[in-house]
Amino acid sequence: MTDPAADQLQLAASLGRLGTESAFEVLARANALSQQGVDVINLGIGQPDFRTPEHIVQAGKDALDAGAHGYTPAAGLPELRESVARQWSARLENPVSADEVLIVAGGKVTMFFAILMFGEPGAEILYPNPGFPIYESVIAYSGATPVPIALQEESGFAFDPDQVLAQITPQTRLIILNSPGNPTGGVVGRDVIDSLVAGLEQHPHVAILSDEIYDQILYDGREHVSLLDYPQIRDRLIVLNGWSKTYAMTGWRLGYSFWPRTLLPHAERLAINSYSCPNAATQHAGLAALEGPQDAVQAMVSEFDSRRSVVVEELNAVPGFRCVQPAGAFYAFPNIDETGFSAQALQDKLLEEVGVATVAGTSFGSYGQGYLRISYANSTENIRRAIARIRSLLS
Ligand code: PLP
Repeated sequence: MTDPAADQLQLAASLGRLGTESAFEVLARANALSQQGVDVINLGIGQPDFRTPEHIVQAGKDALDAGAHGYTPAAGLPELRESVARQWSARLENPVSADEVLIVAGGKVTMFFAILMFGEPGAEILYPNPGFPIYESVIAYSGATPVPIALQEESGFAFDPDQVLAQITPQTRLIILNSPGNPTGGVVGRDVIDSLVAGLEQHPHVAILSDEIYDQILYDGREHVSLLDYPQIRDRLIVLNGWSKTYAMTGWRLGYSFWPRTLLPHAERLAINSYSCPNAATQHAGLAALEGPQDAVQAMVSEFDSRRSVVVEELNAVPGFRCVQPAGAFYAFPNIDETGFSAQALQDKLLEEVGVATVAGTSFGSYGQGYLRISYANSTENIRRAIARIRSLLS
C-alpha cells in the first residue's frame, strides 16, 4: 500500500545515483533460503569466517568495564593513532606520523570521505572495474563522472599504468587503486606502481586513494607494496586500511587512513558531521590488535592459502570455468564465459537450484561480465561441497 504522505515527499535526485553492495543482498537471500530449510553454502560474503582473536575481544570488554563510554576525539584515540603510525613507520623507509592518521568507523568511511572531498559535477574519478562496488556508487552519488580502469584477467587483474595515465584529463581529480584487490584477488607488482607514480609526476592535480585493506593477506611470499613507499606523491595520497579483514573484525566497524596534512582536517570535519567519533571500546580493541601477538593473523592467512589451492583446482575442473590463481585477499574470480550463462544468471541459478551463494562479476562493474566472485572465507569442506554442486549442475 502506498503511503499518501510519502507521495508528497521530494527526495534528492542524488539518491537515485547511489548504488549498493550486492554481496549484502546475496547474503540476505541466502539467509532467507536457509530459514526455509535449504542447505545453503555461502561463498558470497567477503568477511573472514574466523572469530576475532580472544585477546582483542577481551580488550573491548575491558574497555567497557573500565568506563570507555563517552566520545573520543573525532580523529580517534591519540594512542591508537600513534600505534598505527608506529607500525607503518617500521615498514616504510619514510616514516609516517600520528597527525597523518585518522581512525574511522570502518574501511568504507575513508572511501566515502575521499570521494566526497573531490567529487562534484564536472569532475572525473578513475576507479578499478571490476572493483569494490562502493567506489562507482559514491562517485556517481557525488555527481562526478566515474571513469573505469579496466582490469584484465591476462595481466592478473593488475592495471596497465600507461592506460591509466592516458585516461587522465584536466577534469581528473582522483584515482582509486586497490591491491590486493576485491573481487579478483589480483595484486599489483612494484614495477607497475613505479611506472604509474613516475607518470603521475606529470599530473600534479590528481590525488590518489590507495585501498590497501587486504595488505596482510598475500600469498607465495609476496611483500605488500604500499603507495606510502613513494614520498613523491605523499602530499596527495590517501591510504585506506582497517581492522576488518586482517583481524576478522568486520562487525566492529573500525578502520584507519593516512591523509596529507592539508586534507586531514576536512576528513575530520566530515567525521564530526556524521558519526562524531569511532566507537570508543572498539578503538581499545583495535589497539590490542595492533600491539598484541600477530600469530592469529598468520594462522588465518595460512588457512586461506591452503583453501586457495583447493578452490582454484576445483573451479578449474568445473565445465566452462577457467580460474587464475589469486595472489592476495580471499577471493577467486573464475571466468565463466564458456558456461553460456551471464554472470547474473549463473549467480541466481547457483543459489536457487543448488544452494550455493556467489556474487556475479557484474556486481563489481561492467568489466566483471563473464566472471563470478567466489569467496573462500568458508571451510575447505564447504568449499569442496559447494564446487561439487556447481560441477554437477553444469556437467
Ligand atoms: N575496501 C575493499 C576493497 C573491501 O573489499 C572492503 C570490504 O569488503 C572494504 C574496503 C570495506 O571494509 P569495511 O568492512 O571495514 O568497511
